[in-house]
Amino acid sequence: MHTAIIPIDPLHPDLEIIERAAALLRDGALVAFPTETVYGLGANALDDQAVASIYATKGRPSTNPLIAHISHLAMLRPLTGCDLADLPNAVQQLVRAYWPGPLTLVLPRAGNVPDILTAGAPTIAVRFPRHPIAQALIAALGSPVAAPSANRSGHVSPTTARHVWDDLEGRIPLILDGGACVVGIESTILDMTVDPPRLLRPGGLPVEQIEHVLGMPIAVRERHAMPATQAAPAPGMSITHYAPRVPLLVFEGHDMAQVGRRVIAEIRERSEAGQRVGALITRDLLAEATAAGAVATVDLGASADLEAAARHLFAGLRQLEDQEVDAIVTGSFVGAGLALALRDRLWRAAGGAITTLD
Ligand code: AMP
Ligand code: MG
Repeated sequence: MHTAIIPIDPLHPDLEIIERAAALLRDGALVAFPTETVYGLGANALDDQAVASIYATKGRPSTNPLIAHISHLAMLRPLTGCDLADLPNAVQQLVRAYWPGPLTLVLPRAGNVPDILTAGAPTIAVRFPRHPIAQALIAALGSPVAAPSANRSGHVSPTTARHVWDDLEGRIPLILDGGACVVGIESTILDMTVDPPRLLRPGGLPVEQIEHVLGMPIAVRERHAMPATQAAPAPGMSITHYAPRVPLLVFEGHDMAQVGRRVIAEIRERSEAGQRVGALITRDLLAEATAAGAVATVDLGASADLEAAARHLFAGLRQLEDQEVDAIVTGSFVGAGLALALRDRLWRAAGGAITTLD
């Protein structure tokens, strides 16, 4: 299959291009498009064959349900059988505060929703993306769009059209190129069908912002605090998600200076042993990483700028694996806010192998 990449203005998308993409979705084909979190691989969410081809194209296990994306609150009805006003107060509050945005809500599902979309679950994950291209595409289809990240299953999520091309060229007809994603990591997923609501995946919306609106604490069980043998709390939350093709070594600890010294020491030891080492590193340590022998470095931004780190994390992992390094060395993030999601993604990318220095 020939794959076209069409550049499109992210702020004022050309409606002729959007219509061409929507026509493909209407025909049951797949279209990759940017959202504020990562690039999505879209299909008409109510067309079970189109949804099935998402799983086939990504190589995604059919037990891992998809998120349905909407561009108007009226699209809640075909997915949940309810209007917003019929849903619980907590859902209404979160929708008013954070939609459109990087928050996915798991809600009860309507009977007509294809089983394959939710992997047979009686619930459905719904998100209203903020990105103008995503909104325009869903609106042009006039129906919800199922869209997981547009990567081969198990690989690092794509934050540029080029990343999508690298994973899916020849497998899909169209990639809309709206530039790099501004958030850079996936949405926060909150299960609203249980009381209290349960965090299924930390992501682009910090959990503290959810707690602020709901006026209650949300339990955070950090995956790397769990034994590796424990069953995943949600489908698709397996450890091997998001992995780069080369080994990733992650160091973490509450003393950032100590973590930095350990990262630099690891780069030096491996370089001296003849390895090609890549460093995924905050700006304050860039020069030291190069001096220690790193053959490739990626700047994650200023060490306190978690938004910059989120924006550059996946692109950085892809950039370093493309440079054919033998190992990637990085330090994890401490504290609250986006640090929770960053730790989660690094933990998975490292296959659960994180060295804790405390
Ligand atoms: P991805 O599309 O790769 O960003 O992953 C979407 C994730 O949403 C899945 O891996 C699930 O963990 C989660 N998800 C989707 N639908 C449901 C659902 N009905 N119940 C619980 N989790 C869900
Ligand atoms: Mg994904």
